[in-house]
Amino acid sequence: MKIVVIGAGAAGLLCAGGLAAEGHEVTLIEKNERVGKKLFITGKGRCNLTNACDVRTFLDNVVSNPRFLNSSIYGFTPSDCMQYFESLGVKLKVERGERVFPVSDKSNDIVKALEKYVLNNGVDLRLEESVTSVEIKEDAVSSVRTDKGLYYCDAAVIATGGVTYPATGSCGDGYKIARKLGHNVVAPVAALVPLITKGVDGLAGLSLKNVTASIEVNGKTVASQFGEMLFTHNGVSGPVILTLSSLTGRYCDKNGIYAKNSCICIDLKPALDRDTLDARIVREISAAPKAQIKTLLCTLMPKSLVSVVISQSGADGELKASVLSKKQRESLVGVIKCIRFPLVSKERFEAGIVTQGGVDVSEVNPKDMQSKKIKGLYFIGEVLDVDALTGGFNLQIAFSTAMSVVRSVV
Ligand SMILES: Cc1cc2nc3c(=O)[nH]c(=O)nc-3n(C[C@H](O)[C@H](O)[C@H](O)COP(=O)(O)OP(=O)(O)OC[C@H]3O[C@@H](n4cnc5c(N)ncnc54)[C@H](O)[C@@H]3O)c2cc1C
Repeated sequence: MKIVVIGAGAAGLLCAGGLAAEGHEVTLIEKNERVGKKLFITGKGRCNLTNACDVRTFLDNVVSNPRFLNSSIYGFTPSDCMQYFESLGVKLKVERGERVFPVSDKSNDIVKALEKYVLNNGVDLRLEESVTSVEIKEDAVSSVRTDKGLYYCDAAVIATGGVTYPATGSCGDGYKIARKLGHNVVAPVAALVPLITKGVDGLAGLSLKNVTASIEVNGKTVASQFGEMLFTHNGVSGPVILTLSSLTGRYCDKNGIYAKNSCICIDLKPALDRDTLDARIVREISAAPKAQIKTLLCTLMPKSLVSVVISQSGADGELKASVLSKKQRESLVGVIKCIRFPLVSKERFEAGIVTQGGVDVSEVNPKDMQSKKIKGLYFIGEVLDVDALTGGFNLQIAFSTAMSVVRSVV
């Protein structure tokens, strides 16, 4: 078959190479001057290409539409993916959290291996050419139009990515093409993204370890994560925050703005229950009864958080610790277990690692990624309404959905 693959990112490269290896006549069209621009910056330049976990664990890490991915992930598992890249000559290693990287720690080795795979299999690679539409005749794909010409084909694979980090080329073109073809696109929002909050003046750069951060909407905790986080000039970031941003997508509008009365709540001492924490404060007070409350609190938390805790608890930090009443201690304990920062929104698309939302998966066949509306039209990778947490899951989704097409196009 004559097939045009649109976008030479993770999904498009593997799909184009795989289809060409099966004997199809493949044209791969990429708007950038080189392939795999986003792939190159993944994993802080090291490319965490998959996660060496079993498929069930994998699907537990998928945030949007895990059931849709069932058959593609089982069809091309993380272990298949590792073997595949090893067969392309890239040696891999598994790190903490089962994250898989090239032994060289260079994402470029993954990009180069895929590029070589594509070219060795005879794919016609067109760089600096942008696809503007996919043309249809009698409910089937007939051609792909670019800013430079028209390509007649039997099938078109849309692998244009999402809308985050648009400087890498993924700026939402796939959504426009899909909409024009009558596909529904679930409103895209940034995910795995820092959050903008109020009340963080003076905290930028402070990082916290072993804390539990939760998001509360209308007084109800909707997601919690334990681990590391940090404060930015306008909010919060770090591993637990990125995860929370993905898990709470449904509580934001299409501009990434959270419902009113949302806040982020940080438990500085998740390992201690309230009584144990109170007992610890009592011990600190009897060890230094003349110390001011603000000095005493420095033994329990970073100095820059003390004034925030004091102001939220209503205590007078200048007073001697020994005058604290039980009620005042309870209030302090309450704040140490839950410092609240009003939550405004997600950061903008430019700062997001993945896009949540995209081509509505109810209109796509999960077995082969073919449109249920148009014969010969396929969607793979991040352009679909699928996304996962950090750990190599998003790239594996790109690779697995790509391989579903390779297996099924005959
Ligand atoms: C900073 C950062 C770090 C990340 N690190 C990791 C990680 O370590 N592990 C992980 O699993 N995931 C990671 N991700 C997520 C992962 O990179 C993406 O989920 C993945 O690249 C999606 O692959 P894709 O092929 O669907 O899209 P992309 O890789 O975005 O590729 C889409 C391609 O389509 C091209 N294109 C778009 N429109 C057109 C058009 N009209 N015509 C022609 N070409 C077009 C684009 O230029 C682009 O090259 C990271 C993301 C970012 C931003």
